[in-house]
Amino acid sequence: MQVIIVGAGTLGVHHALAALDAGWQVHVIERDARPSAASVRNFGLVWCSGRRPGPELELALEARVRWEQAGGRFPEIGFRAAGSITLARRPDELAVLEEFRAHAADRGLDAELLTPAGITAHNPALAGDALAGLLVHDDAVVEPRRTAPSLLDRVEAHPSATVRRRVEAVEVDADGAGVRVVARSLVDGTTELLRADALVLCPGAHPSGIAAQLLADQPVDHCLLQMFETSAVAIPSRTAFADGDSLRYYPGFAELPSARDLAPPEALVDAERLQLLVAPRLSGGLTVGDSHRYDEPFPFDLDERITDHLLERLGKVLGRRPPRIRRRWSGVYARYHGEGTYLHLTPQEGVHLITGVAGMGMTVSPAVAARTLEVLR
Ligand SMILES: Cc1cc2nc3c(=O)[nH]c(=O)nc-3n(C[C@H](O)[C@H](O)[C@H](O)COP(=O)(O)OP(=O)(O)OC[C@H]3O[C@@H](n4cnc5c(N)ncnc54)[C@H](O)[C@@H]3O)c2cc1C
Repeated sequence: MQVIIVGAGTLGVHHALAALDAGWQVHVIERDARPSAASVRNFGLVWCSGRRPGPELELALEARVRWEQAGGRFPEIGFRAAGSITLARRPDELAVLEEFRAHAADRGLDAELLTPAGITAHNPALAGDALAGLLVHDDAVVEPRRTAPSLLDRVEAHPSATVRRRVEAVEVDADGAGVRVVARSLVDGTTELLRADALVLCPGAHPSGIAAQLLADQPVDHCLLQMFETSAVAIPSRTAFADGDSLRYYPGFAELPSARDLAPPEALVDAERLQLLVAPRLSGGLTVGDSHRYDEPFPFDLDERITDHLLERLGKVLGRRPPRIRRRWSGVYARYHGEGTYLHLTPQEGVHLITGVAGMGMTVSPAVAARTLEVLR
């Protein structure tokens, strides 16, 4: 079996690794010199706790197991079973955490409610203004800036794989006998015809070439998020953490009956759909976000009001002056609005396009890849 994979974000590299593990020949085509889109711009959160109970959470929990295995095989991705703490500031937020805790075991999650002293005992970095914290042991982190690039290097080093960088997949033609893909070099414009048994496109939020054509009429939209990373903090964080504003967005919390009684958010939080979400980095710094914008075209510049708000919230949660910002960026993910957890389109026999994994794409990618392979077998 030979497979061509277009796109080397987290979805593409996990499909490539899964195909190599199955003993297949793999050809990866990536438009950029190295992955530089959503898969390296995210928090690196393997975030199971906020997923909707049912297929979405099942996919996330399966992926969590696969991430841990990947962490054992590829230590450079920095997998840590760090867990997460979601902090309540007010009784309305605490009520949501309590309700979530009551159902956690039924959902297959290992969660406990912590007092303020319990929060600081579990994660001494969190010495701020919380009323209570929900510790979810299942959540984990990887290092996003390294993960897709280093996994692509692993693929490239495999004797059954080729990787074409700065190359775009521009045409596809398929019949029952296989697929033919025209790949065009973005360096010198030369084209190459590749043949295989199957084609898997994982083009993310900025599809081009064949992927853009195939996605033209699909119910997919996009979300712009704003982020920053701090320099090392005085007391490194042992867990990921979030504030109570996150309870509005993640369906695992937002669809609980008690979430209807959450107090209205302040104006900026509402307008920019802000939450404080934080992932610890191996450097000792923190990746901090995020805002959510859906009205395209997106602005090209970063909004300092968002940074100021998140930095102020971070200081309150840490209980000390917030650390210095090291770098800031924005990123875009693709959201699917049809049936199912993500878009798996098969426009022609042997051609599979996978996208629309939204804000859970990093989390679920190894499990999505495993499911695609079951279809391809
Ligand atoms: C700021 C931010 C924070 C996030 N945080 C998290 C998080 O902590 N946890 C989580 O689970 N999810 C998170 N997400 C979501 C997650 O990052 C995405 O869902 C995921 O990275 C999408 O992966 P992908 O491989 O589909 O796309 P991408 O990473 O966008 O990769 C697609 C690749 O395809 C290439 N490509 C496209 N078209 C072609 C073509 N025709 N030929 C060749 N190459 C092509 C592109 O160059 C690109 O490298 C976050 C997203 C953002 C933006």
